[in-house]
Amino acid sequence: MKKQTVRDIDVAGKRVLLRVDYNVQVDEGGVVDDTRLRESIQTIETLRAAGAKIVICSHRGRPRGEVVDAQRNAPVAAHLSRLLEAPVASADECVGPAANAAVAALEPGGVLLLENVRFHPEETDNDPDFARELASLADIYVSDAFGTAHRAHASIVGIPEHLPAVAGLLMEREVDFLSEVTHSPERPFGLVLGGAKTQDKLPILDYLCEGADVVCIGGGMANTFLVAQGHDVQDSLYEEAQVDRAREVLASVGARDDIEFLLPDDVVVSYGAPESGSVTVVAPSDVPSGWRILDIGPATIEKYARALKGSRTAVWNGPMGMFEQERFAHGSLDLARIFATLDATTVVGGGETAAAIHRAGVGDFVSHISTGGTAFIAMLAGQSLPGVDALLDA
Ligand code: ADP
Ligand code: MG
Repeated sequence: MKKQTVRDIDVAGKRVLLRVDYNVQVDEGGVVDDTRLRESIQTIETLRAAGAKIVICSHRGRPRGEVVDAQRNAPVAAHLSRLLEAPVASADECVGPAANAAVAALEPGGVLLLENVRFHPEETDNDPDFARELASLADIYVSDAFGTAHRAHASIVGIPEHLPAVAGLLMEREVDFLSEVTHSPERPFGLVLGGAKTQDKLPILDYLCEGADVVCIGGGMANTFLVAQGHDVQDSLYEEAQVDRAREVLASVGARDDIEFLLPDDVVVSYGAPESGSVTVVAPSDVPSGWRILDIGPATIEKYARALKGSRTAVWNGPMGMFEQERFAHGSLDLARIFATLDATTVVGGGETAAAIHRAGVGDFVSHISTGGTAFIAMLAGQSLPGVDALLDA
């Protein structure tokens, strides 16, 4: 990595603001999937061993600049404390007197998790005063927030204007691995895209397709393409504003004879509540009125398995359906198993996609699981990430 890391700086006795991406779901039982927490442990332990006072900062969800109790960071602090087997203090503010006092109370080796930074609209606005306030909590900035590195937000690019800023060990691992896959991937190159963030991901699909031999589309992303093909997806999740863009992608891949660009031939549709409504499998042209597509169908899973089979590099971001519900998890869990058996460098990215891989029990059988979703896709598309650019050069 061409950036300085925690190994390049002396943190003994210093206050370190560690920006992480703990954008995890929390339910009554606590943190649902703690992959992102576990991935940051190595950096935290390294800082603790070096005697730093560790002030952790993260966003969670999209509270849109308001305090939302369900999106507080306290349950995440409790979970982190269990993973570290050490106390983790939590502050109910990320700036101001409460945050200052909590930081002042830290001993060397101590850990504090600040409140959800997106409770302040200044975070996503990259407000310079807010960035200065956050920076005033620490002497050094360390970023492990690979999953948020595509966002030019205050705690990502604003703080580094005031503090020496270096990469954490997770950030380093991600950037090193993904640079390699981007620069010299072994062909054939298979790409699978799904999930819900079509608005973020579809605009860069062209760049991704350039180097790909096979592209398989599922999830909400597929629905947008099905609409672009003229199908009526009824009540399915899709992105109206991206339909024209999807049509352009179809035209450009249609003009190439060196790429297989695949969309679902059959889909699992549901009527009513996802956990209890009716379910059946239909062709994309036959979605009944008022029903919605919640997974790819069995014939599509087989088609994607066949198409990906000879890949030497395979990349996947975005679940094939609403996999949180057992009944719509087949596409994503089968795809996870397909990835695990490929004789290829296999790279999987995205919070939910990583969760699907773990749920299928195949985490040990893929080459790299990235904590980034959109950041991961942006990097694969050759875009530079603001949150990486902001760090000190090596
Ligand atoms: P990642 O976190 O892996 O980058 P996204 O955040 O883009 O992936 O999307 C994950 C979400 O997409 C999941 O919560 C899943 O329920 C949802 N999803 C996938 N397919 C569908 C669908 N057909 N309809 C509704 N939601 C879907
Ligand atoms: Mg996600």
